[in-house]
Amino acid sequence: MTEAVSPKLAGVNPPSNDQIAAGANPESEKLRLDRERTARLHQLATLGELAGGLAHELKNPLSTIKLNLQLLMEDLARMPGAETSHNRAVTVKKEVDRLGQTLEGFLRFAGRIELRTAPVHLNVLVQDLIDFFMPQAQAARVRLHASLAPEDPICNLDANLIKQALLNLMLNAQQAMPAGGELIVRTHVSGSNALVDVSDTGMGIAPEHLPRLFEAYFTTKKGGTGLGLATTRRIIEEHSGHIRVSSEPRRGTNFRLELPLRDKNI
Ligand code: ADP
Ligand code: MG
Repeated sequence: MTEAVSPKLAGVNPPSNDQIAAGANPESEKLRLDRERTARLHQLATLGELAGGLAHELKNPLSTIKLNLQLLMEDLARMPGAETSHNRAVTVKKEVDRLGQTLEGFLRFAGRIELRTAPVHLNVLVQDLIDFFMPQAQAARVRLHASLAPEDPICNLDANLIKQALLNLMLNAQQAMPAGGELIVRTHVSGSNALVDVSDTGMGIAPEHLPRLFEAYFTTKKGGTGLGLATTRRIIEEHSGHIRVSSEPRRGTNFRLELPLRDKNI
């Protein structure tokens, strides 16, 4: 790991709500969190520029490989006695597809993000997501519901990106409850922030995993990408927000998003 990507910056452990409530000096804690966020955003902006260049260099050859592989597979499929070669080509195609997905995932996390913000009624956004996710939740025996703030919070958001961030959290919650459970998305208002809590009654997170949770490529799942939470944190921090987690093994997990409310004077 290089100096620029210090373990501290790559995997800051967000304090639990209890820790925040009990914090001796909430103001200096807030300053520290804001500073860490700024450092991470700078780091990702630099990385994003490099990543953009690299992705551009990789994308064209990758699509040429894919196209030619497709043609090769068609030729082999017509050739008598070439089953083994055809199967090998299928394997290569799978790996090439996987490379393409890895590249896309990395770009979603580290690529350039241009926020297209507009005033958004957070409750409406959350309700839309709940409706969208409901069939999937029901199929997984997850009881999904919303609890919406009576204040009707409005934030300046890139709605598509915030939906992506929340969906990552909802998907993780569902995956943490393989035998079903309860998934609640709550909105609240606290001072000048809107809060969104995504809580589940799943397996919880081992305390030793908490410091690495938001690191890119950290996963405990077979076939997991480890990019969901890293991307979610990036999106929230690009909106000048914060994300925190509190969790109890075997009881469940709560992710809290804090997003600045729209300034009514603007
Ligand atoms: P992935 O889902 O591909 O593993 P994520 O970045 O979305 O990657 O999550 C990283 C890790 O954080 C997961 O592998 C899991 O160990 C843990 N995690 C995230 N959300 C939850 C949750 N709601 N309950 C339990 N563990 C979770
Ligand atoms: Mg995930």
